Amino acid sequence: MTGTVLVTGGTGYIGGEVIDQLLAKGYSIHTTVRNTEKSEPRLRERWPDAGDRLKIFQADLMSDKGWAKANEGCDAVAHVASPFPLAVPKNKDELVVPAREGTLRALRFAKDAGVQRFVQTSSAAAIAYGQRHKNNFDHTDWTNIEAGVPPYIESKTVAERAARDWVAENAPEMVFCSVNPVAVFGPVVNDDLSTSIEMVKQMCDGSIPAIPNMGISVCDVRDVAEAHVRAIEAPADKVRGERFPTATRFMWMTEMGDAIRTRAPEFAAKVPTRKMPDWVVKLLAMFVPTMKQVKSELGNVREVSGAHTEDVLGFKFIDPEQSLEDTLRSLVEHGIVKV
Ligand code: NAP
Repeated sequence: MTGTVLVTGGTGYIGGEVIDQLLAKGYSIHTTVRNTEKSEPRLRERWPDAGDRLKIFQADLMSDKGWAKANEGCDAVAHVASPFPLAVPKNKDELVVPAREGTLRALRFAKDAGVQRFVQTSSAAAIAYGQRHKNNFDHTDWTNIEAGVPPYIESKTVAERAARDWVAENAPEMVFCSVNPVAVFGPVVNDDLSTSIEMVKQMCDGSIPAIPNMGISVCDVRDVAEAHVRAIEAPADKVRGERFPTATRFMWMTEMGDAIRTRAPEFAAKVPTRKMPDWVVKLLAMFVPTMKQVKSELGNVREVSGAHTEDVLGFKFIDPEQSLEDTLRSLVEHGIVKV
């Protein structure tokens, strides 16, 4: 299948991989970046042969400027752009407002341009939080923001809910679905690291002295991108209204450390073996913004099932230990982590 797809956030980790896979399949791509002067050379360097098949537009989630042109002539949109910071912001609206307003803006301009299909990059953040005593989740679950959740979790939940409500009311003919990744690992292509990759980097570069008592569900960026591509290509009745979690399994950070030591023994000395007591995490969270997220996850198990996505979209996810190894090897290849 060919056509033109707008991928928002082409500078990002996931957005870049979606573009990569779509270009390889013969699609033409429109992508939005916040600053063309800064980002266009980098994108052209990544896809030197794309030529006119890659068009780059300047558009910010918080402004109407640029969105009409970016959507012109597109058959589908993969709306990937959303703020995804490492640290918790002082004001939650720094995340919630651009995530929600940006999604609605992208939908509005897509509808005006006659775009038929819209795939939103949501998150397991919209699935698996704010529900005490529940450890297993799937595509039917929703995060309960009333329980008080961190700003990023709220931003993704509010954005997905708002998108679904908007489509139901304003564009019921549009084929809308979401991809809901858990923490995304897998090969990086440059030193502009997504928050999820920072975690692997810090485990292997000696910057964490001990491992906190936390874990996350893991998936691979190649699978996340493939889910977007398949959601764009599948028959409309298969994907309309669907939620597609991409997730393999939950891993404690200690398990990740063990997997790295086994698969990349040259890092064994750098990956911490000591456990960080919970009280140390809580103390650090008072001073170090990134530790606030860790504190809120101490001891929590959130197993998110990706089985529905594998069934409906018809492919198998990459083994999580392989994903971790590939992440690390790419960080080394790009000189970001040294042996
Ligand atoms: P990333 O590498 O940090 O990419 C974020 C992208 O969003 C960048 O292209 C960024 O553009 C763009 N963006 C941020 N704020 C924007 C704004 N105000 N206007 C326009 N563009 C803006 O993160 P990622 O890991 O690829 O994440 C992409 C999406 O996947 C996000 O929606 C995130 O919530 C979701 N997700 C990620 C994970 C994960 O573990 N990585 C898991 C679940 C869901 P600039 O280059 O201009 O900053």
